[in-house]
Amino acid sequence: MQVQVRAFRSIRNRILVFSILVTMLPSLGIGWYWFDLTHKATSEKVEQKLLDSASFAEREINLWLEERSYDLRAFANSPLVLESIRSTVPESKNEPKKAAAIKDASQLRKISSYLALVRDQYSDYRRLMVLDNNGTIIATSGSDDNAHPLSVPDNWKEQTAKFRLFSGDAFSVEEEAAPLLLLGIPLFAEQDSPPLGFFVMEVRLQGIPQLLKNSLPLSGAGRDPYAISLFKMNGELIVSTALPVDKSATLISPQETIGLFAVPRLLKEFVNKHQERVVGVSIPLRHPPWHLLVTEKYDTIFSGLIQNRNRIILIAVLLTIAIGGIATIIASQIINPLQDLTKGVLRVADGDMDVAVAIHRQDELGLVTEMFNIMISRLKESQQKLELLATTDFLTGLANRKQIMTDLAQQIEQYRRYGTKFSLLMVDIDHFKTVNDTHGHLVGDAVLVQLARIFKETLRILDSAGRYGGEEFLIVLGQADLQKALQTAERIRLAVQQHIFTCDDVTLHATISIGVAEISTEDRTINELIDRADQALYDAKEHGRNRVVSG
Ligand code: GH3
Ligand code: MG
Ligand code: MG
Repeated sequence: MQVQVRAFRSIRNRILVFSILVTMLPSLGIGWYWFDLTHKATSEKVEQKLLDSASFAEREINLWLEERSYDLRAFANSPLVLESIRSTVPESKNEPKKAAAIKDASQLRKISSYLALVRDQYSDYRRLMVLDNNGTIIATSGSDDNAHPLSVPDNWKEQTAKFRLFSGDAFSVEEEAAPLLLLGIPLFAEQDSPPLGFFVMEVRLQGIPQLLKNSLPLSGAGRDPYAISLFKMNGELIVSTALPVDKSATLISPQETIGLFAVPRLLKEFVNKHQERVVGVSIPLRHPPWHLLVTEKYDTIFSGLIQNRNRIILIAVLLTIAIGGIATIIASQIINPLQDLTKGVLRVADGDMDVAVAIHRQDELGLVTEMFNIMISRLKESQQKLELLATTDFLTGLANRKQIMTDLAQQIEQYRRYGTKFSLLMVDIDHFKTVNDTHGHLVGDAVLVQLARIFKETLRILDSAGRYGGEEFLIVLGQADLQKALQTAERIRLAVQQHIFTCDDVTLHATISIGVAEISTEDRTINELIDRADQALYDAKEHGRNRVVSG
């Protein structure tokens, strides 16, 4: 029983698992496919947008540099500058350079005040200087910065050839909030001659963030999701629109930045120092050799997408719960009737035929249950018929010999247990052979059948009659002593004597002889009681038949 129930549970679980899979897999699969597709499309769009921004910013930087180059050239074009630089170069080998410098000390003072005048007009320029061809400062606009040694880049020649000016590294000094950049041009006396020196200036980069900001896409209200930053080749941040111009601030670690630069123009995802997920594209600048990084916050781009994805997951989960619930109900509707049926089957298997399984449903299972009930009732009927056949004499309908012996055994048992007395009649038809011989076997059979009917009509519910042999019968009279038994026997004998036996057109009279025996304590077996009745019957035959004799 236990095993059966467990087996049904597993069907329920299988239906449940199946329904969950059938609901969950397609919805999540389609959801994932949609998310992947939209994510890719959005990424491509964002990549293009950020790249456009970066290109725009690149143009802005180039333009800015162009303007600085123009300024440099304009400042350097002053005759004062050329004069002063010429004065530092020895005119002949005999004249020491130092002496020449001293000679033109007044000249140098003039140029210095010229440089200071220019610097004062441009807030972005920190220092303007004229260097000799060794890189030594000849004249400066003032505010000498000894902390930061000034050096002309080694590749100034190549840079100038390509870009018409050269740039040094971006650097920071303590007293300046914004980083600085050294820009310069060589000074020539004539074309194609070696340079006499250089005109350089330290440019403040404080205006750059605003410049870059203009190239960013327009964003809605709230915190700006975009940032654009300039980095050195080594990954060090120069300026960023996301940060105040502060030399100590960085967005991401230099190593990570260098990693980004390795794949320029491709959308990359990373986590910045504020622990924000960010996507960005970088492009290298031709001059100065910097990198531009345009970023956008991941959440801004994908928040709608993620919200929709979460909604899809929620719908899938709710759908799964609903379908799972329905599946459980349907499974119960299948399993509960099956369990009832199983219980019924088990009861039948145990031999209990009084089973009727309740029908709750008008479906296939209801039909099966109904069929089961019909089958069991038919089985019960045929079992009852079989039982009747096994205990009944087919001709007379009385108990057969086996059954009457069982009844007798029960009566003896009752007598031994409770002392309930009973008596036994042994009945035999007189000269039955003659009936057969005269009228035929069929008439003989009819006599047997009608005799049985007389027994049934005469006897009480406590009594039972059975066919013992061919035309011999045993009648057990419950709760009857000898006296009562003799009375009953006599009543039967008389009824038979008076009865007109008929079969088709044959009518005849017949008599019976009866031997009567009352149970006694001396009867140890059934056979002893039967023997006494048999003996009494024999005596009745001996004494002329059609009589009752007790033994
Ligand atoms: P008695 O008065 O001495 O009993 O004489 P009887 O002719 O009845 O003798 P007995 O009891 O020995 O006869 C038995 C006969 O009963 C023999 C047989 O032909 C007949 N008989 C036994 N069984 C059946 C039966 O089922 N049908 C018919 N028609 N006759 C039967
Ligand atoms: Mg006989
Ligand atoms: Mg006889």
